[in-house]
Amino acid sequence: MKVGVLALQGAVAEHIRLLEAAGAEGVVIKKIEQLSDIDGIVIPGGESTTIGKLMRRYGFIDALRDFSGQGKPLFGTCAGLIVLAKEIEGQEEAHLGLMDIKVARNAFGRQRESFETDLAIKGIDEHVRAVFIRAPLIEEVRDGVEVLAVYNDEIVAARQGHLLAASFHPELTDDHRMHAYFIDMIHQTK
Ligand code: GLN
Repeated sequence: MKVGVLALQGAVAEHIRLLEAAGAEGVVIKKIEQLSDIDGIVIPGGESTTIGKLMRRYGFIDALRDFSGQGKPLFGTCAGLIVLAKEIEGQEEAHLGLMDIKVARNAFGRQRESFETDLAIKGIDEHVRAVFIRAPLIEEVRDGVEVLAVYNDEIVAARQGHLLAASFHPELTDDHRMHAYFIDMIHQTK
C-alpha cells in the first residue's frame, strides 16, 4: 500500500514517518503525475492559503478532485482540513471543496493558539494525544459527514466516506493510530 503526502508546504516528513510506522509505504508527492501511483494521500498542516495557491499553480486542484472522484481516500490535517472543506468562514472561495463541512480558521483564540490534549476519537480505542497549532474547527457538518471527535463542544475530526479530516496534528506525536485508521479506510475502499 502506497500513501502519498502532498509536499508543497508543511509537515511532510513527520507524516511519512507515521505512515511507515503504521505499515504503509510513504511517498513524497510533488507532481500530479505521481498521483496515479498511490492509493491515498495526506494533505498536511501548514498555511492553507499558501498550500491552496501552490496547488492551483501546479495543477493539484483538478488532479486531486479527479483522484477523489476515483474514490481514493484523502486525509487533511489542520491546514489540510481547510483545503478539503467546501466552505471556509469569511472566504469566498474554497480550495478543493470536496468535504461537506464548513470550517473556521484559527478558531481557538490567542491564549489557546497552541495546546495539547487527550482526545476520544470514534473508531480508536484509547485517547489520542492531539496537538493543536493555530487550528481550525469544523463549524458545520452536512449530510453524510460523521463526527469523529469533539473538543469543548467543537468538532475537531470528521469523516465523509473516503474523506478524513482532523483539526490537530497527529503527525507530531509518536502515536500512529490516526494514520492506521486512514490506512484501514484505504483498505476498505480498495
Ligand atoms: N492556521 C493555519 C491556516 O489557517 C493552519 C495551521 C496549521 O496547519 N497548523 O491555514
